[in-house]
Amino acid sequence: MKLVTFTDGGAARVGVVDDDAGEVRDVGDLLPPGAGLLEVIEDWAVLGPLLAARSAALPALPLDSVRLLAPIPVPRRDVFCVGKNYREHVAEFGRSGYDQPDRSEALPEHPVVFAKATTAVTGPFDDVLAHPGVTAELDYEAELAVIIGTGGRGISRDAAFDHVWGYTIVDDVTARDLQRKHKQWLLGKSLDTHCPMGPYAVSADEVPDVTALQVQSRVNGELRQSAPVKDLIFDIPELIATISAGITLLPGDVIATGTPAGVGIGFDPPRFLATGDVVAVSITGLGAQRNRIT
Ligand code: MG
Repeated sequence: MKLVTFTDGGAARVGVVDDDAGEVRDVGDLLPPGAGLLEVIEDWAVLGPLLAARSAALPALPLDSVRLLAPIPVPRRDVFCVGKNYREHVAEFGRSGYDQPDRSEALPEHPVVFAKATTAVTGPFDDVLAHPGVTAELDYEAELAVIIGTGGRGISRDAAFDHVWGYTIVDDVTARDLQRKHKQWLLGKSLDTHCPMGPYAVSADEVPDVTALQVQSRVNGELRQSAPVKDLIFDIPELIATISAGITLLPGDVIATGTPAGVGIGFDPPRFLATGDVVAVSITGLGAQRNRIT
């Protein structure tokens, strides 16, 4: 099932999307009062079958007549992110000098986990703010994001997919100068609007083999990144096991799994984003987002 959070001018609504027909159905009347997508994910064992059985009978709106928000517009807490998780990207990041002064291209021995602030989250077609005066080195990072369903601590690799509700797309927009200058990555990763999410939250049953999905980004139509999820250095079970070893994962937690090679600092000289640029990120079966830098 493809779920969205959308507005047709009023309050945010939860919708079920028929991608082929280009339609969305407002399922709010089937949900507990005030429930958003977070609550739907949290009570998926009950609400998933209910939506599957009853949403098709609801009236449909053209998808292009509504504004899609991030599927989870306000996550419960910061978005978990993973750095240096595709081999070629580790090499380009090392060569760029933006990570370590010794320009190391060595693969990480353990997952590199950091966070983006919840306030960075923005819609899949919203503008991304350039923040002049704060950063002059804006970059894009196309990523598959995992949405946690059933929470837990100490989740094993073998049990990891039992805890995956589904998937979405995240652009881990990065202020490279802040990332380098402040050493710790939180500031460089968390500027307002620097986490476009969506368009859809896609339940895991629609994704039989997540490793087969292709992650792509384009800047002004030019293909910059393209890699299959199977190229991840640390796969999804490893990421869930690592994070949950001592931190309780919660329903609705988002884990951005890392970006492939082809980001702006992978070029020599770097190709940073400028005002007016349009970044499009797509993943097989998960749709596409498109954001203009303003
Ligand atoms: Mg990233």
